[in-house]
Amino acid sequence: MHDPNCLFCKIAAGEIPSRKVYEDEEIFAFHDIHPHAPVHFLLVPRLHLPSMAHAEPVHAGLLGRMMVLAPRLALEQGCRPYPEGGFRIMVNTGQEGGQEVQHLHMHVMGGSRPWLKG
Ligand code: AMP
Ligand code: ZN
Repeated sequence: MHDPNCLFCKIAAGEIPSRKVYEDEEIFAFHDIHPHAPVHFLLVPRLHLPSMAHAEPVHAGLLGRMMVLAPRLALEQGCRPYPEGGFRIMVNTGQEGGQEVQHLHMHVMGGSRPWLKG
């Protein structure tokens, strides 16, 4: 459940400081330390899942709740409403997917452009 060597497990447990956006029993959200957009935060499950490649049917509820939570938090963090505003959800997976931290996370990015990437 909790990997003692994992950065995002430690952040979700409050062992490493972060700028918290949201938390509940199973999900933690915090601002990305190197934002690519005016709004850029990460949503992670407290459960240590190394990547989206590790998702199984048993995780469908959790991943669905993260997806449904993202739009609400995006608006709370300053993204303008759809369709003029909106946001991007990105889940980098594996080396060729550009994943650097091996704990599943959703990037939520938004705000007025230009952004650093994309
Ligand atoms: P990824 O490349 O998808 O694995 O993204 C990892 C993200 O985690 C990057 O956007 C980093 O800026 C971010 N990150 C790394 N360390 C921290 C930290 N201590 N607090 C907040 N965000 C972090
Ligand atoms: Zn972890």
